[in-house]
Amino acid sequence: MKTLRLVLGDQLNYTHSLVYTLDTDTTWLILETKDETGYVDHHIQKVIGFFAAMYNYARFLEKKGHQVIHIKINDSQNKGSLIDNLSHLIQELKIEKFEYFLPDEFRLDERLKQYSNTLSIPVQVWDTEHFLAERDTLGQFFEGKKEYLMESFYRMMRKRYGILMEGSGKPLGGKWNYDAENRKKWDAKKKTIPPLLFTHNFTDIALEIEKAQIKTIGSVNAAAFNWPVSRKESLELLHYFVNYLLPHFGTYQDAMSINEWSLFHSRLSFSLNTKMIHPLEVVRAALAAFEKWPEKISLSQIEGFVRQIIGWREYMRGVYWARMPEFARLNYFNHQRKLPVWFWNADTQMRCQQQAIEQSLTHAYAHHIQRLMVTGNFALLAQVNPDELDEWYLGIYMDAIEWVEITNTRGMSQFADGGIVGTKPYCGSANYINKMSNYCSNCAYEKDKRHGEKACPLNSLYWNFYLNNEDKLRSNPRIGMVYMQLDKMSPAEKTAIKEQAASYLEKIDQL
Ligand code: FAD
Repeated sequence: MKTLRLVLGDQLNYTHSLVYTLDTDTTWLILETKDETGYVDHHIQKVIGFFAAMYNYARFLEKKGHQVIHIKINDSQNKGSLIDNLSHLIQELKIEKFEYFLPDEFRLDERLKQYSNTLSIPVQVWDTEHFLAERDTLGQFFEGKKEYLMESFYRMMRKRYGILMEGSGKPLGGKWNYDAENRKKWDAKKKTIPPLLFTHNFTDIALEIEKAQIKTIGSVNAAAFNWPVSRKESLELLHYFVNYLLPHFGTYQDAMSINEWSLFHSRLSFSLNTKMIHPLEVVRAALAAFEKWPEKISLSQIEGFVRQIIGWREYMRGVYWARMPEFARLNYFNHQRKLPVWFWNADTQMRCQQQAIEQSLTHAYAHHIQRLMVTGNFALLAQVNPDELDEWYLGIYMDAIEWVEITNTRGMSQFADGGIVGTKPYCGSANYINKMSNYCSNCAYEKDKRHGEKACPLNSLYWNFYLNNEDKLRSNPRIGMVYMQLDKMSPAEKTAIKEQAASYLEKIDQL
């Protein structure tokens, strides 16, 4: 049967079983389309990265002997949208069977299902053979529960894959979790290990994007594009991480430091989310290093890393499929404020925000604690509408794909899900930022002041958030301490905090 097999831009699995099954009747289709680049304004590096990775995947398939159609954004045969291109090709090539891989995005999943229903030819949907849990594993695991505790899911995954286990059912070293040991501040006087950067010349792709009038955000040096865009480079990045960064990963995973944009983080998320590398090979490479260099890589470093991949990453995907599409509309605190303008240009005097946003615009990257406890924290305390924030996070990061972006943003960072992902909101005042970073030094604001001239905005906004949401949060046992502190404050102090917060929120664009 003459078959057309669609591969989406985040389905570049070089180890998929179908790659190793030659079929002369099948044509693989890789498409650059306006609708996929335009549903939010993406970072220029993200668009270039996807186009380059898709190009390399198409060449890889051809080298394997497959027939491939790769339609680029400005090609004359490009019909515009995904569906228009599919309809045209199915008719033009007299296709007798349509195949695609299970999309990871709800929107595309629905769209392809609907489109398939309109076809009069058979349709086959393949698994992407990428994830370690099925779409519905988490939903079934937590059946009937309001909260989905990551820790329980993570332990189940450790047992399922026999990772860091000794004997049956027991965690290696006797403990499941070493988080408490993984919260060290980085000493800025120490020398860090530089990130591994590639140097591709992608000026041609940048020009094509400009020609196609795709609206983008952020900046790029297209002549020295530094992200991995093939499996070979993704593996190089993995080995660099395992050899040089992993020995410090756990200890400093929550640390932040001026001008250090990735510290000991792997920067593997783009390679993982496009499926150029497999989560299990990432974990196995890390485990092999742990076994080889036990004196260099402690159990707490490796556990911290394994938790991110087989825990958080798989967990977020499970939450997405268990709770979409309602998840995308959740707004527990009914926050309605617009995102401050400086989220788009980093023009703020708050040094922590300036650092995290500036590097996001420059590198299309911020590490987890910057996303969660700097930008996400500010947005939560400033009552920003989660829709606005989702759009920003979905656009700005190299690795941003809805299944992992929205669950982290709306769920983990904004508590807009009312406690599905987290048991309490993740938020902090200047105290937290100062504990985990050197951002507060030389900041225009004073970290120790709650109100008054130059008081750090995070302080009044933090207490104001808890005062405003007392009905929703006071009874939460994990937040008891906060309300005990608030109860000790005088009414005058509370009024001063509220007034300070209101005045900052009024001039939010000038902070
Ligand atoms: P490392 O710190 O080196 O961690 C290794 C890997 O673990 C990552 O590559 C990633 O695959 C996985 N991982 C770690 N934390 C998480 C997590 N919370 N959820 C899922 N996977 C995790 N991650 C994305 O991949 N895409 C997103 O769009 C995205 N948006 C986020 C938005 C917010 C508000 C927050 C708080 C987090 C978001 N994350 C997202 C999760 C996390 O911040 C990134 O995965 C991580 O920063 C990627 O950098 P890295 O590869 O250097 O990660």
